[in-house]
Amino acid sequence: MPFNPANAIQDQLVFGEFGDINPSITDSSTFTFMSPETMEDAFEHEMEGCFLYSRHWNPTNRYLATALAAMEDTPAGWVTASGMSAITSVVMQSCSSGDEIVSGRTVYGGTYALLNNLLPRFGIKTRFVDITDLTAVEKALTNKTRILYTESVTNPLLEVADIVTLANIAHKHDVLLVVDNTFTPMILSPARLGADVVVHSLTKFINGSSDTVAGAICGPSELVAQLADVNNGVAMLFGPVLDSLRAASILKNLHTLHIRMQQHSQNALALAEALSGWGFDVHYPGLSKHPQHQLMKKMMHPEYGFGGMLAVDFGSDEAARQLMKIMQEEQVGYLAVSLGYFKTLFSAPGHSTSSEIPSATQESMGLTKSLVRFSVGIDKDIDRTIERMHKSLSRVGILNT
Ligand code: PLP
Repeated sequence: MPFNPANAIQDQLVFGEFGDINPSITDSSTFTFMSPETMEDAFEHEMEGCFLYSRHWNPTNRYLATALAAMEDTPAGWVTASGMSAITSVVMQSCSSGDEIVSGRTVYGGTYALLNNLLPRFGIKTRFVDITDLTAVEKALTNKTRILYTESVTNPLLEVADIVTLANIAHKHDVLLVVDNTFTPMILSPARLGADVVVHSLTKFINGSSDTVAGAICGPSELVAQLADVNNGVAMLFGPVLDSLRAASILKNLHTLHIRMQQHSQNALALAEALSGWGFDVHYPGLSKHPQHQLMKKMMHPEYGFGGMLAVDFGSDEAARQLMKIMQEEQVGYLAVSLGYFKTLFSAPGHSTSSEIPSATQESMGLTKSLVRFSVGIDKDIDRTIERMHKSLSRVGILNT
């Protein structure tokens, strides 16, 4: 049977204290020890599987981390209070002053700001490259590079990373390939394609209800042990701990992720085809004209589709602004940042989630101010949404058909 991320999650059987079908929630920041000697042992030898304090490990967080590691098929997992803290933890654990990172230039604006603005203060330099230009990627690696960083499908331009080739390049140079799989959970399994570490913003599709902020790191057991180390672990010492009550609710939502991803993908493909048919410049990897359409087909688990994210250039800043206002009035969805919600969310990344990227860099990567990013919802009737989209475009006067 080929690997399937949904089956891997479903095979994680965890029962609660009384045979409850949901695991019990450990609502405690600290744990008792039977004797001072065992407490001393815990601190001196970091006993595996031992719970001592919830910033270190909490059983509920461990259930979620284990399920996510199963989904990504990695030996271990760790959960954090946000996607950004998952990224920061991996980077700070793996790099020291003097080290370098090579990163795709189209990454989430917060990640760009971390790499470009904040990390140089700690002596860590990032070289940004076009992640689809594999020659440029290899050329940017130096003997100081520790991490090659990319998003599986990039935010907001929906470029698809060739994870297999990037892993080969990274490993040839003894560099870690870190992949942010936030846009494509279930669809892509980066670790199975060669990535060393997979990070997620759980805030998005995985939780799916836009009611919390959380993150995850899936990777080797040694990395997770290092993160949790009481003396040197970045997660332990910077302390971006996820609350156990939230971990429990995210774990419950994770069990419907495979169905939600199918519906997000089905709806996004229908909307992408409609917008493309009306003559708009649509970025969606499910369209055969997308430059990495064939690459994505080779890497993906096909039953989950090409994902719920798409981006469209509406030609002018003003048209994009007017359209977003009208789409909200016509109930296409909400004018909001973030993604993975059951309703469609849209925003102009050049003015919002990618605004941390300097304008000249945005231009050079093809990120125009008239680009609108959609996180397509799980609407039952996407034809009705497409009609509303048509009406919104007509009201702005940018539809010729
Ligand atoms: N990675 C990607 C691809 C994102 O889109 C985001 C947020 O939008 C993040 C990471 C950061 O996640 P969080 O907001 O949970 O910190």
